[in-house]
Amino acid sequence: MDKWPIGVFTSVDAGLGVKLEVARELGIPTIQLHAPAASTRTAEQAARFLGRLNDYGIRLTCVFGGFEGESYADIPTVARTVGLVPPETRAARTAEMKEIADFAKRLGCDVVALHLGFIPHDRRDPLYAQVLDVTRDVCDHCKRNGQSLHLETGQETADGLLAFIGDVARDNLFINFDPANMILYGTGEPIDALRKVGRLVRSVHCKDGTWAADPGKEWGREVPLGRGDVGMENYLRTLLDIGYQGPLTIEREIPQDPERQKAEIGHAAGLLANLKRKLGMA
Ligand code: MG
Repeated sequence: MDKWPIGVFTSVDAGLGVKLEVARELGIPTIQLHAPAASTRTAEQAARFLGRLNDYGIRLTCVFGGFEGESYADIPTVARTVGLVPPETRAARTAEMKEIADFAKRLGCDVVALHLGFIPHDRRDPLYAQVLDVTRDVCDHCKRNGQSLHLETGQETADGLLAFIGDVARDNLFINFDPANMILYGTGEPIDALRKVGRLVRSVHCKDGTWAADPGKEWGREVPLGRGDVGMENYLRTLLDIGYQGPLTIEREIPQDPERQKAEIGHAAGLLANLKRKLGMA
């Protein structure tokens, strides 16, 4: 299999990804898929979607879970609404995450991922133990499906994430590394973070961003790939150093402007292809 095939984050009827047709038109060979809405996670829809993937010659590498009621409006809102951390929605979302994993299995996909939410930094916080429990529960469900679970980075520091994954103690729990999120959330310099967590990185996002004036308090800004503070060449060189061979999945979240989104993804794919050549990976 190709090392570092280019990918793009897509969605069908939920989430912020581009449509599958965009990947096809741009000649992008792999996708991650934001889980479709519950009403469309049926066997028939799975068969139809698989048919389209086969027709287009596109490989699905990961299904991302997401939930109604999540909002990325600002950092406190993320803490309150995102993932399996908020107690009010945890039971229902955990059940839904397992359904999403089952849907991914129907699609022949052995990786599911999610934003877990803001894990408490203090391991003595009772919430910390609850988040460990729910993560083990989802990991064990995925394991029975022959799947791995990848945690999206951004809301934790590299050290915090390593400690948490160690405490979960499941051999199918890994990381979807998103360098821009480290900047947007202000949780650490992304290249240093990647070196720290590298052995657990099994999928990545190629996304760029600029630091906020007051990191961690306010959002940084997501920008087109290559224009932000990640440093794409350095990012790819570091992926090479840690031995990463999976897809380079472009994520660009500007659903309000699909034409610009498509143009930027095309540009990002070209930029990554050039860097792959430069680094001897193409
Ligand atoms: Mg991401």
